[in-house]
Amino acid sequence: MDFEWAWLLLGLPIAFILGWLASRLDWRQMRILQRSAPRAYFQGLTYLLNEQQDQAIDVFVQAVQSDPDTVELHFALGSLFRRRGEYDRAVRVHEHLLARADLSAVDRARAQWELAQDFLKAGLLDRAENALRPLEGTTLESQAQTALLYIYERTHDWEQALRLTARMTNEHERAQLAGKQMHYLCEQANEAMRQQAFDRAAALLAQAKAVDAAGVRPGIEQVKLLLAQGQHRQAVEWALQVSEKMPQTLPLLAGMWDGTIFDALQDDQLLLQQVHTALRVHYETEASLDVLLALVAIERHMGLPRAGAWYVEHIRRHPSLVAAANWMELQQQDPVIERALDKAMQPLLNYRCLHCGFEARNYFWQCPGCQSWESFPTKRVEELHT
Ligand SMILES: [Zn+2]
Repeated sequence: MDFEWAWLLLGLPIAFILGWLASRLDWRQMRILQRSAPRAYFQGLTYLLNEQQDQAIDVFVQAVQSDPDTVELHFALGSLFRRRGEYDRAVRVHEHLLARADLSAVDRARAQWELAQDFLKAGLLDRAENALRPLEGTTLESQAQTALLYIYERTHDWEQALRLTARMTNEHERAQLAGKQMHYLCEQANEAMRQQAFDRAAALLAQAKAVDAAGVRPGIEQVKLLLAQGQHRQAVEWALQVSEKMPQTLPLLAGMWDGTIFDALQDDQLLLQQVHTALRVHYETEASLDVLLALVAIERHMGLPRAGAWYVEHIRRHPSLVAAANWMELQQQDPVIERALDKAMQPLLNYRCLHCGFEARNYFWQCPGCQSWESFPTKRVEELHT
């Protein structure tokens, strides 16, 4: 008993002194850190507020060098480098962070995400993809998946995009997934069509229809597939079915009908009549330029008199340069004026993205400018102004 009391009497003051020393050391260290780190933060912040990014970077670099453990400063510095377009320096900062063994799981995921952003902004999509993959299973998984999907869409890797959508966790994305999957399958079907793998294209279009029954694209692509196979009659019959169910598709479908298709239907007057009626009924409801052009083309093909009167009728409804130029061409009066009008109307026949204003003569389901899906109206530029 005496022995234990002696230890206690001796141990208590020693413990007290050690505790005091430890607290004093921590406190002094914290004082040093609190003095240097916040000063660097405030100085850097002041420079940033004054839009003096060079000076802010100098201050942060000095602070990071004198205290390499400061995680937040590394993030601030990396973000500044990236914003200034110095992607290699931003990458080095984030890679340096990731190399640290003492980094918390949350900060590690954050550094990984920032590194992926550096590569994305630098346009190094394959390296960005590699940087995003380790984020699976972390708190940043869903935003990493969104970024990965963006990369697959940019690189037209529809196979990977499809696989990713099957396991996406972001609720907001999930709501749009069926539409996106439908487009990915249609894109793959188009690739198959280009390689003349028509059976594969047909199977992909059937899948596209199954994932998004309300989507208008699979029906239109089906018409394209039949035309690619030279099955003109079936293509027109299918187009009539599609446009009956979804009248908004007729301008795009009518854009595919040219003289060769009407020639192919020559011995089927009933089908030609059906096409004529569909075009006419649609035009009466909505005066689409594509429908107008197809209407005149089919009436001329059927030998109907005054087919060109539709152009005059259209100009009466809308001041249309496209209709005027086409009418002039029919009259064959003055080739000089005809050429001038033709040149003036060409830009008016473009399609334009509603999101970014990108214009193209071909219709795009995904805008090459801003990557939005279905952002092109089926109207030509001239019709957007009226
Ligand atoms: Zn766009």
